[in-house]
Amino acid sequence: MKVYNTLSRKKEEFIPLEEGKVKMYVCGPTVYNLIHIGNARPMIVFDTVRRYMEYKGYEVNFVSNFTDVDDKIIKKAIEEGISAQEVSKRYIAECKQDMENLNVKPATAHPLATEEIGGMLEMISVLIEKGYAYPAADGTVYYRTRKFQGYGKLSHKNLDDLQAGHRDIQVTGEEKEDPLDFVLWKPKKEGEPYWESPWCQGRPGWHIECSVMSKKYLGEEIDIHAGGEDLIFPHHENEIAQSEACNGKTFAKYWLHNGFLNIDNKKMSKSLGNFFTVRDIQEKYDLQVLRFFMLSAHYRSPLNFSAELMEAAKNGLDRIRNGAKNLTYLAAHTKTGKMTEAEAAIWEGSHAFVEKFEAAMDDDFNTADGISAVFELVKYANTNTDEASSQELAQKLLGRMKQLCDILGVILEEKEEILDDEIEGLIAERQAARKAKDFARADEIRDTLQAQGILLEDTREGVKWKRI
Ligand code: AMP
Ligand code: ZN
Repeated sequence: MKVYNTLSRKKEEFIPLEEGKVKMYVCGPTVYNLIHIGNARPMIVFDTVRRYMEYKGYEVNFVSNFTDVDDKIIKKAIEEGISAQEVSKRYIAECKQDMENLNVKPATAHPLATEEIGGMLEMISVLIEKGYAYPAADGTVYYRTRKFQGYGKLSHKNLDDLQAGHRDIQVTGEEKEDPLDFVLWKPKKEGEPYWESPWCQGRPGWHIECSVMSKKYLGEEIDIHAGGEDLIFPHHENEIAQSEACNGKTFAKYWLHNGFLNIDNKKMSKSLGNFFTVRDIQEKYDLQVLRFFMLSAHYRSPLNFSAELMEAAKNGLDRIRNGAKNLTYLAAHTKTGKMTEAEAAIWEGSHAFVEKFEAAMDDDFNTADGISAVFELVKYANTNTDEASSQELAQKLLGRMKQLCDILGVILEEKEEILDDEIEGLIAERQAARKAKDFARADEIRDTLQAQGILLEDTREGVKWKRI
């Protein structure tokens, strides 16, 4: 299996640190809002990487964090007059709901930055002891960037160019020794969440969070560290500087980065306002279509989002689903049970599509070519089966189709429509839960219904609902 390593800028043979095991860390979202479909791209593509590795027999320890302390979270909390923790808790729950709807497997661990402060204080202390960090007079702790020999090795930047870039944007009044130094710990501002530390009451910088969470849940050396390409610099570069200076070991062997999801060839982002949330898409499409759309391009290529491409993805997925439906029907209804000799040869012939699929995925997870192999399998099954086929052949081909789609995380069964009676029943249960002040259960029911595309509206005449 070959993977493209941002560190070497080459495709390399994947050799795990420990045989049969993969330790993988994916930088998760900052939780201050509903995630947009750009944020969903790394979730989907690295979930697919994980699924493929599991298919190949690896035991994957997959860790993905939530950044739950950040300026944007604090800003949102102030706007809403609630605590930062309430904001992050709400959006972690929403994000997990979106992930489930996208069929992204829960990580082995989903650490929260705010629950790992102890480890951060420890790592910062070690960095200070080793001379890689220093506290300034105001209690801010900075990383001494030039002291780390390998700085720039991931982003392929050299220090002098970085220095030149910094000169233009240098902020005055900072107590840094060098403009390239970055923050490990910063003093609190009025009304902000803070923790005690030897340097000042304050909070961690973003980069130290991932170094610490990766170390705690996966160890000092890991196989794969991943995220969107905007994280290469400075986030991942700084993570390397922190972890390698602290632990004296190579931090991650392979660095994987997904390309941007664009809209009109511009990166989809909250700040530009050119985004669709996963929920927006869910109003119009089965989210399996979104997943299929994301995987129809190579994960490192930019991917432009458009209504036409979503329609094309929907048609493509329908084609596979129809193939599976035909086989399901034949597997239950044809007259002969066992395969004939001729059918055994047809079954043998279908191995070629699995080989093609694996060859594509072994080549740096080329899901676009993997999907082509699935289309070919569907076509092959359509042309080689009919009412005269055996149930066994139909079943086997169906199993193969499902197995390949499961590696992609694409669910072939269409969601069963929730019936009106069930909706009414859940609404009654929600009202009872509210009366009993069991708001957790009431919210849970609302979320369950929402995930099924049912929107509740509390009106004076009672609860109304509609399908969206
Ligand atoms: P953030 O919450 O901005 O830190 O982003 C969480 C993850 O989503 C990171 O891995 C980002 O690189 C990734 N990401 C954000 N926007 C996009 C986009 N438009 N396309 C692809 N990945 C993105
Ligand atoms: Zn990170």
